[in-house]
Amino acid sequence: MITLESYVLGRWQAGSGPTQILRDPTSEEPIAEVHPQGPDLGQVLAYGRETGGPALRALGFPRRAALLLALSKAIHAHRDELLELSIQNAGSTRGDAKFDVDGATGTLAAYAQFGKELGERAYHLDGAPTQLGRTPRFSGQHLFVPRPGIAVHVNAFNFPAWNQCEKMACALLAGMPVLEKPGTPTALVAWRIARIIVESSLLPEGAFQFLCGGGRELAEHLGPQDVLAFTGSSTTGAKLRGHPVVVRNNVRVNIEADSLNAAVLAPDVTRDSETYDQFLANVELDIVQKTGQKCTAVRRVLVPAERVREVADDLVARLTKVQVGDPRSGETRMGPLVSAQQLADVRAGIAALSQVAEVLCGGAGAVHAKGYFVAPTLLLAKSSESQVFHELEVFGPVATLLPYSGKAADAIALVNRGGGGLVASLYSNDKAWSDEVVLGIAPWHGRIWIGSDRTAGQALAPGIVLPASLHGGPGRAGGGAELGGLRGLEPYFQRLAVQGFQGYLEKLGV
Ligand code: NAP
Repeated sequence: MITLESYVLGRWQAGSGPTQILRDPTSEEPIAEVHPQGPDLGQVLAYGRETGGPALRALGFPRRAALLLALSKAIHAHRDELLELSIQNAGSTRGDAKFDVDGATGTLAAYAQFGKELGERAYHLDGAPTQLGRTPRFSGQHLFVPRPGIAVHVNAFNFPAWNQCEKMACALLAGMPVLEKPGTPTALVAWRIARIIVESSLLPEGAFQFLCGGGRELAEHLGPQDVLAFTGSSTTGAKLRGHPVVVRNNVRVNIEADSLNAAVLAPDVTRDSETYDQFLANVELDIVQKTGQKCTAVRRVLVPAERVREVADDLVARLTKVQVGDPRSGETRMGPLVSAQQLADVRAGIAALSQVAEVLCGGAGAVHAKGYFVAPTLLLAKSSESQVFHELEVFGPVATLLPYSGKAADAIALVNRGGGGLVASLYSNDKAWSDEVVLGIAPWHGRIWIGSDRTAGQALAPGIVLPASLHGGPGRAGGGAELGGLRGLEPYFQRLAVQGFQGYLEKLGV
């Protein structure tokens, strides 16, 4: 069995203390172990700040962008091995494994491209100069400068490759060294990527550190120039944000948390339209892809009440055809959940929802004698008003149909009861209905995806997070913002205004 080590303070180190076992979720066989008690985290963060940070920033934006491309290529060269590890450790089908691994290398490559827009200067201009005095001689210019701290990235288990690389791409390009901490149940893929990064020797020493397991004391060592970027449950996010050291030092915190993402079918969409096919395909994909362990997956499906049985029949017909089983088999469309804990949580979640909903297909029962399997599960709410649908995220292949009147105002009220979402998807060809819903739910979302006959067959699915588009959402979704092209660097920059003689400002640092 492999022991997963951490790469900190310039070397690989195994932890100590109790053993945490990683299992193949298909066979339940142990595959790797982690020992969560590790190095002195105060020293680890200081090493990143003092050794990695200055060397990284000395490279400048263009060379850091080039490094991201080189890292993407180095990781891509191990693609087949990483896909196998993802199948083994996360129970991913090959398609799901590619979604994670190719998403990781694709995001690094995309940031290499975005970085080409940044010049050789040590800062990035934020907008144009503004006249502040009686004449333009006295002006102000807003700048973004890299923060001289360390970016601590605490990642979730569901995208071990992508989550690590998307955060790393933005921080490294901005000029901050990173400490990556993967979600432990699927840490094998993240650990292998860490080994590839270290073996490539592309990054200056100290710019990349990797912490496997533990990390519970990280927040105690964070300072005012550090960034804590967290992806995971809203409960852990709230705990980290409220940590006394984080509060006292005003540590910059970016939280990507859970979200009760909604899909809304408008009353104008008929059963024979392309938009309806797009709706069915996307809802099915969100339930099945990555076994529903996707922060952007749809959990609440709003359907006009008079159409709900028809939609239920169409979705059940699709979902009951999905082959659930060993992800190594070419026939399998959906693999297991990643861990016994996830299986227990998802079963408990289905049980809670089914108190106030009819189970149309799937359910909490066992699918195979071994492995952490659950069937694709669709429920129909007895009343869309029940709070549980708007509060409980069941992080698995589970969604609930919520009947509504078809009126835009009612859709807005129900969608916004989720308390803040990463993405909402709307399906309509009616401009007036779409306008009202988009603007009505906009303040509560990071992203709104609009399906229509005009995009059917062309649009990427709403669950896909793209480097060029913002990822994050207000309220329940964590209040964070990642990606979105060069906007993704903002958490790692300090924004300031410099005021003075315009001629001086134009030549600052050159
Ligand atoms: P989690 O239990 O909150 O864990 C997330 C990460 O935090 C893991 O690396 C975990 O480490 C670490 N952690 C837990 N407690 C900690 C503490 N006290 N101090 C420091 N680190 C701590 O979440 P999860 O179960 O892994 O992930 C699933 C959740 O993530 C879902 O709710 C999902 O919606 C959300 N998610 C959100 C996004 C997004 O972009 N918004 C993306 C993916 C997932 P260990 O694994 O070692 O315990």
